[in-house]
Amino acid sequence: MSKPLKNNKDNSHNHLHLPSDLSQALIISERRRQEIQRLSGVGYWELDHTTGALYWSEEIYSIYNLQEDAIKPSYELWVNLIYEEDRNFVNENYQDSVNEGTEYNIRYRIKAGDSIKWIEARGVTYYDQQGQPERSIGTAQDISEIKASQEQIEHLAYHDMLTGLANRKLFSDKLASSLLLADQHKTCLAVLFIDLDNFKFINDQYGHDVGDEVLVGVARKLKGCESVNDIFARIGGDEFAGVLFGSDISEIKNSVDAVKKAIDSTYETTIDNFKISASIGVTTYPKDNVDTDILLRHADHAMYEAKEQGKSGVHYFDIDHFQSISSRRQLLKDIKIALLEDEFEIYYQPRIRLNDGRLEGAEALLRWFRPHGPVGPTNIVTAIKNTAEEWTLDAWVIKMVLSHIRLFKEHNISGPFGLNINPSSLQNPELPKLLSELLSNLSIAGSDVEIEILEMESIENFDTTRKIIHQCMEFGVHFSLDDFGTGYASLTRFHDLPISKLKIDQQFIKNIDNHPNNLSLVKSILAIANANSRPVVAEGVESNSIAHIMAELKCEFGQGYGIAVPMPMADFIQWSKRWEEEEHELKQQLIEISKSLRAGD
Ligand code: C2E
Ligand code: MG
Ligand code: MG
Repeated sequence: MSKPLKNNKDNSHNHLHLPSDLSQALIISERRRQEIQRLSGVGYWELDHTTGALYWSEEIYSIYNLQEDAIKPSYELWVNLIYEEDRNFVNENYQDSVNEGTEYNIRYRIKAGDSIKWIEARGVTYYDQQGQPERSIGTAQDISEIKASQEQIEHLAYHDMLTGLANRKLFSDKLASSLLLADQHKTCLAVLFIDLDNFKFINDQYGHDVGDEVLVGVARKLKGCESVNDIFARIGGDEFAGVLFGSDISEIKNSVDAVKKAIDSTYETTIDNFKISASIGVTTYPKDNVDTDILLRHADHAMYEAKEQGKSGVHYFDIDHFQSISSRRQLLKDIKIALLEDEFEIYYQPRIRLNDGRLEGAEALLRWFRPHGPVGPTNIVTAIKNTAEEWTLDAWVIKMVLSHIRLFKEHNISGPFGLNINPSSLQNPELPKLLSELLSNLSIAGSDVEIEILEMESIENFDTTRKIIHQCMEFGVHFSLDDFGTGYASLTRFHDLPISKLKIDQQFIKNIDNHPNNLSLVKSILAIANANSRPVVAEGVESNSIAHIMAELKCEFGQGYGIAVPMPMADFIQWSKRWEEEEHELKQQLIEISKSLRAGD
């Protein structure tokens, strides 16, 4: 494009003052110019700023649908022809170009008779030696056809050809702007994922043309449900998506119900009438405060739930449930890393004999201290349930605890030391292998190791489990039944496995002093254990008085905050030395109780 010609001292030759002896050559050249304009569809105009004379070429008249001989060109006439909404914009561009000496190239709409035409216009102004505008010239071209085909291409790129609804691309763009709108107006919106039930049957049975008729019918119904700013789109074969605005959840629910009601009806096709219903998944924003793709995925997820619940239903996405599943997934990922990076620790909680208060080993308990706070072992165990990490963790715990036991033995601390493993590992042949390897490598006796069995209900194969337990028992390792009393299965399956000890769950012990029901339950557990010659550990001994009660009931062992809280390995070594060497009130009291029990016998 030519540079602005303002103040161009050399532009006087551009004056259109034709000499009076117009030669034949000029006539030919003018005819050629006119023909070029007609063929190219480009009109030409020229304004003489000094006289105000405006010239329009034939093509300009034809573009503007004006009669050349009936109308005199004028700036006002031209401005009036411009579509009202575009008038200011065109005027400003033209005036700026004249004032600043820039060339303009704009597109605008004009009223040409009853129709609207799109014009592409270019123009430039020339100036005299004083810098005053002398002459403006410009071209105008009717680009309505180009514009129409461009619009058609754009429409095709953003719409579904069959139904005319928005396609997935346009839907996600519109969804993004809908979220902004909802934020601005502090309203809610629902994202719907709609799938027609049994549509495949119609398609397969009657052909795609009939299927298409149904889809067009559904799209029409959806269009009928659109209020201001709402939008529906076809995003797959028989899948539609929608955005519905509402001031609150109940308004949204009503709109969703209305959509469901509208879709569920009979559709007329050239072959037959078909009853159609839809399964709809819904998620609502801002409650589900995620970005567009994820909102649609959540709605899709909810739609599957609707299908699972027996089709033709509406299901709302359950954020809390979903979050708990995904946070479990995240936790599992973190646990895998923690295992690799050795982030776990083992704490020890001492266990004492309730007849004389002497130390009888400890229970090894898993600890995970993360920068933002500790994660409890129950959460860890739940997160890794039914994954390969169950064994990975158990193998880590076993290795760690056995190496600690070696140290405890060097400090003359008496065992056995209990460790907790996941029930699935009791069916894993790797368990006896690992134990025998470690026991011989570390030169420790199997009798110092006690494996606590949890959740007997989840043991699937009792024969395998029994075999594996027996293999471990060959090295002297024994097993105790943890959390006894919490599941009926534990009581009924007591005889199913070779268990040498029972651990009564802390929930029955920690408030035994003021819960008579717990007291009688504990008494019966002790009676069962006694009848089967199995010693018992009371967990949850939170005070001296609970220790007294359990000692009076002749429960063999106690463990709980009243004796000691779980502590790091080094602390446990110190604690056990002090406990064994120093006088303790509780120890004395327990000895007294035993004495009086023996005297009463
Ligand atoms: P558990 O085996 O029954 O362990 C006893 C739980 O009771 C421990 O909780 C312990 O800190 C707590 N406790 C001890 N004394 C008292 C008391 O006086 N009062 C009360 N209210 N609670 C007491 P923790 O450490 O949170 O462990 C919870 C459960 O996680 C354990 O129950 C066990 O089932 C499991 N677990 C712990 N460590 C491991 C592990 O290394 N591997 C596996 N697979 N599970 C483990
Ligand atoms: Mg335990
Ligand atoms: Mg327990």
